[in-house]
Amino acid sequence: MADLVTVGVNLDAFSHAINGIQALRSSVNRVFESLKDGMKNRETLEGREKHFIVQFQDHLQAVNRDLNELERLSGLVGRPSESHPLHNSGLLSLDPVQDKTPLYVDDVISRIGRMFPDMTIELFRPNGTSAVLLVTLGKVLKAIVVMRSLFIDRTIVRGFNENVYNEDGKLDIWTKSQYQVFQKVTDHATTALLHYQLPQMPDVVVRSFMTWLRSYIKLFQSSCQRCGHFLQDGLPPTWRDFRTLEAFHDTCRM
Ligand SMILES: [Zn+2]
Repeated sequence: MADLVTVGVNLDAFSHAINGIQALRSSVNRVFESLKDGMKNRETLEGREKHFIVQFQDHLQAVNRDLNELERLSGLVGRPSESHPLHNSGLLSLDPVQDKTPLYVDDVISRIGRMFPDMTIELFRPNGTSAVLLVTLGKVLKAIVVMRSLFIDRTIVRGFNENVYNEDGKLDIWTKSQYQVFQKVTDHATTALLHYQLPQMPDVVVRSFMTWLRSYIKLFQSSCQRCGHFLQDGLPPTWRDFRTLEAFHDTCRM
């Protein structure tokens, strides 16, 4: 395996390429220096113009030459192998600190809220920093989404008219819906959370999940994409395809 690490990159060309970058930087610098200096220090206007243009062309040619050289070297440098044993561990550092800050979570959630006018998202912080979202989708359903920084821990879906608060006025994050249809949607939403996993981009996951959840705005108006019926065993199509968002009965989705 050790060979894979070293074979991919030509270190000699790499060091030349770094020199090439430095050369390019100084020639670009000279272009801007000469632009800054303009046409001063010549007796006649004609002489100044001529000198300036000649000098400017020289500098641009130097930039062109350095750029070509750098392009040639970049071809020699090679690429780190995809099978680099450390390849994936590099992603570990992509867990940015900003994900953890409540302000960042607020910002992501409010941007998602603005994307979907038929969906209102209220953000609560019942236990300090971790957010709990109350998502109201039209007059169809309410979903409680329990977050851990920007990761969704779990979710529970209830009917629009069902209680979302306890008697003490706090969000009830545990009680199941009394309706089978919303119990099914809760099960599917839990499956969706397992499906939309992208540890490096939790904001994308939240957005994808909300986009998926939003497709339930037509929970009682969509027919099944497979059997074509609205009801099956007294239930509407409660499944939504994760990619196409199409509606299926639970038993029709295979
Ligand atoms: Zn069906």
